[in-house]
Amino acid sequence: MARPLIAEINLTALRHNYQLALSQSAASSALAVVKANAYGHGAVAVAQALADLTPAFAVACIEEAEELVAAGIKQPITLLEGFFDSNELPIIIARGYETLIHSDWQLKQLVHYLSHHRVAANSLNIWLKVDTGMHRLGFAIEQVNSVYQQLKALPAINKITLTSHLACADDLSNGATSKQLAQFQTLQQQLNCLVSIANSPATLGYPEAQQGCLRPGIMLYGASPLAPGHALGEQLKTVMTLKTQIISVRDLPIGESVGYGERFTTQKATRIGVVACGYGDGYPRHARDGTPVLVNGKKCHLAGRVSMDMLTVDLTNSPGAQIGDEVILWGEDLSVNEVASYCDTISYTLLTCLLPRVQRRYIK
Ligand SMILES: *Cc1c(COP(=O)(O)O)cnc(C)c1O
Repeated sequence: MARPLIAEINLTALRHNYQLALSQSAASSALAVVKANAYGHGAVAVAQALADLTPAFAVACIEEAEELVAAGIKQPITLLEGFFDSNELPIIIARGYETLIHSDWQLKQLVHYLSHHRVAANSLNIWLKVDTGMHRLGFAIEQVNSVYQQLKALPAINKITLTSHLACADDLSNGATSKQLAQFQTLQQQLNCLVSIANSPATLGYPEAQQGCLRPGIMLYGASPLAPGHALGEQLKTVMTLKTQIISVRDLPIGESVGYGERFTTQKATRIGVVACGYGDGYPRHARDGTPVLVNGKKCHLAGRVSMDMLTVDLTNSPGAQIGDEVILWGEDLSVNEVASYCDTISYTLLTCLLPRVQRRYIK
């Protein structure tokens, strides 16, 4: 006996998606972004499954990198926000992490550290972030040449990769991306250095961005960041299937309400299934009535507010459904993008918000 809620994670699909990303790279170079517990899929298992394919990984912070190293991952790991405190520098250097530098304060601390400690020559790879228009992290375009030269003059520093992040690449009709790419390419030509610009949507949708090292995240997990119908996006394979079971069924007459706050009221006699999954597992509490849920492969709809451990489904479209029958909350036949659209959010949040309570089961 066990609670039936499981996130089944298809590692073959994950590998397929990585290879699809790599096939778009002009330089045959793509690291795998495994921050936020590999978008909820389990960072260690995902990194291990990709270890013979990918030359490098990227995470948000040193704690995430340390988890991978403790599990035996040997590839270089890029810290996408660099260090938060200079006391991380000795660990970065000892482990060979590749730190990003996005701000003056980091540059100052790095220069100060390197001038007060013995660090082997050419032992540190740096990612230099430029703000090409997203206005979140990165040096202003006018600063980059000077920062690059300062970094280059430090004997401890080996490779410098110029990097930037795209704000609107998931919308192929948004002109902001071409502007960002043009700014980036101008700098690239000036500095003639290694580069990395493409996230998943750019990897799939912007050939101009497919130079240098690609940084695919969400696409590895099979959720296309582009609108449905994009040829490459459609080739992605779903990695996670969140599945569970019906644990109770009741037949309600017209005019009865279900769950907290009586949000859903039956408009006719309705069979309701109670499903073992709730916001305490990461399923969004703000999912609307009508959010699709597969019951025995048939598309049914959420009815009533999501509880901490349970949610309730209108079984009209799966009339024979019984206790113990399979329920899929998202997965191959019900895309996480579709579910997200009913929850006023995106696939990224549904996947990353899946809590540790949900058992991950890995299949090859
Ligand atoms: C998270 C992240 C990525 C991956 O983005 P996706 O849209 O998931 O592909 C790439 N680059 C940076 C800097 C990131 O923070």
